[in-house]
Amino acid sequence: MGEILCLKSVSLTYQAENGEVEALKDINFTVNEGEIISIIGPSGCGKTTLLSLISGLESPTSGEVRVGGHVVKGVTDKIGYMLQKDNLLDWRTIRSNTLLGLEIRKMLCNATVDYADDLLKTYGLWEFRNMRPSQLSGGMRQRAALIRTLAAKPGLLLLDESFSALDYQTRLAVTDDVYGIIKRVKIPAILVTHDISDGISMADRLIVLTKRPASISRDIKIEFSRSEIMSPLQRRNDPLFREYFNLIWKELDVHE
Ligand code: ADP
Ligand code: MG
Repeated sequence: MGEILCLKSVSLTYQAENGEVEALKDINFTVNEGEIISIIGPSGCGKTTLLSLISGLESPTSGEVRVGGHVVKGVTDKIGYMLQKDNLLDWRTIRSNTLLGLEIRKMLCNATVDYADDLLKTYGLWEFRNMRPSQLSGGMRQRAALIRTLAAKPGLLLLDESFSALDYQTRLAVTDDVYGIIKRVKIPAILVTHDISDGISMADRLIVLTKRPASISRDIKIEFSRSEIMSPLQRRNDPLFREYFNLIWKELDVHE
């Protein structure tokens, strides 16, 4: 499998007004084609910092971040970054929101617009295309935000606690939804969360971080008997789910 992302001995220390904040310490891992990785760790441990590094918004104090074999130097179009808030603009329709990323990157043309429209059709938002974000449910808005991110055909998708603002029922539905889309588009993804269940339900591999400064305490392969065809909801009902949950719970607890 081809390497999409590689972090080698990556550390980052912020120079803040009131002194230094050591956020990441000696992080090493690789993401291969088609893999979905969950990164889990306590609040404030350095998860968002890690995504900032991968997306090129921050530079490591030491070590190296490579995307597609090239060292990351500044923000790149190859990465799609989805935040916790959907950040849709309410003065734009759903369709024009999904085209926003393309517009900003000056990538609007017939082919890219057709692709974004196809995503809207495939994922059930076409009939809502002329509505405003505030007229849609939280789950639908997340789907629109995902389509906006995917429209630019990034090579790697980063999601930062993208579901944590949703209520539990909606979150279950949205994780199923988003997982299905990521799998079908076959885009490698890194999902950052502090929620153990969300992490296990979507990942091929789960990386557990220690408290700040974050380093990797475990890198666990998540395997269910029918992983390839199971949805996050089906995983939650599998007896193995609880075993993974307890393992990760203990792992996080050790580092409290
Ligand atoms: P998480 O996403 O896991 O909650 P963050 O990566 O946001 O954690 O933050 C890790 C630590 O780095 C926190 O202590 C936070 O206060 C600090 N931090 C984050 N961004 C900056 C910054 N730009 N300058 C200084 N300190 C920061
Ligand atoms: Mg964060």
